[in-house]
Amino acid sequence: KDCVVFRSDRVKWFQPLTMDRLLYLKRTYPKAKMIMGNTEIGIEVKFKDQYYPVFINAKHIHQLNGLEVSDTGVHIGAAVTLSRLSFFLTKQIKEQEGYKTKILKAITEMLGWFAGIQIRNVATIGGNIVTASPISDLNPLLMAAQATLDIASVDGIRTVKVDDSFFKGYRQIDLDFKEVLTSIYIPFTQKNEHFYGFKQAQRKEDDISIVNAGMFVKFGEENNIVDDVRLAFGGMAATTVLAMNTMKDLIGSIWDQYTMDRSMKTLLEELALPPGAPGGMEQYRTSLVLGFFVKFFMKVNNDIN
Ligand code: FAD
Repeated sequence: KDCVVFRSDRVKWFQPLTMDRLLYLKRTYPKAKMIMGNTEIGIEVKFKDQYYPVFINAKHIHQLNGLEVSDTGVHIGAAVTLSRLSFFLTKQIKEQEGYKTKILKAITEMLGWFAGIQIRNVATIGGNIVTASPISDLNPLLMAAQATLDIASVDGIRTVKVDDSFFKGYRQIDLDFKEVLTSIYIPFTQKNEHFYGFKQAQRKEDDISIVNAGMFVKFGEENNIVDDVRLAFGGMAATTVLAMNTMKDLIGSIWDQYTMDRSMKTLLEELALPPGAPGGMEQYRTSLVLGFFVKFFMKVNNDIN
């Protein structure tokens, strides 16, 4: 009653209608492939000859499609499509006080450059996170935002941060075969916090990133001294990465030209790509990191002066 099943000689296709049934299926079929918008899996199956004997289509489960606002941020179901997400965030940006929605603005802006309308109408936020592409457009933003993920299995629910320990390697994340990403929490910003996202692709529309970034900074209550900062980059390594050394160095610094120059040096030291790095365009990609940082610096400078 709570699951539709299609079977052929080669493939079993389950369409559970409840979370309990989904989690039971995930435990029972360790090699099952969960399907949401099918924009990644469809390509693997059609163009890369990937064969999956068991599919679980979980897109219709009610609990995975929620969109909620709390006092401190927004909760987004993992099966929410990018078009629905954009619509929801735009509404929040209109309704909430301006200073709270800087992360939501950066995500909405990024979604404008994410694939095309057809893909955004079916692709889900959960599918993008779990795919863990090093050039995911959302993961650097979620990492810089310190978003958290609820992950469920038959054993219960755990909550993890989107950070460097969640992305374990090339397209590998901290997610067991029996686990399902259920929802994403994105915090509101405070008055002394600033957030921007950046993307450079080969062409403006409907293209994947060469390099992208999400950047967050928090200042002390009444000054321009960095209290907390997160600089996350995509397209510079096998996973989305945080520029840890630059972040550490920035804490306690005044937001001025001297700090900007120093940070560019540390960014170069920790992220510069050596000749022959996978993906090519090493110098160009390295220069994009610096360019994004300068843009971030100037935008924040405008905000605080
Ligand atoms: P699916 O293909 O359904 O699933 C992807 C993977 O995630 C599968 O392994 C699946 O098992 C797993 N999964 C999905 N949901 C869950 C869950 N809740 N719990 C556990 N596992 C789960 N990406 C960008 O970042 N930027 C772009 O500009 C961009 N452009 C694209 C353009 C085209 C033409 C195409 C085909 C793809 C593009 N992508 C882009 C990549 C892709 O669209 C995104 O990664 C998308 O968000 C994937 O979501 P989906 O729902 O289609 O995932």
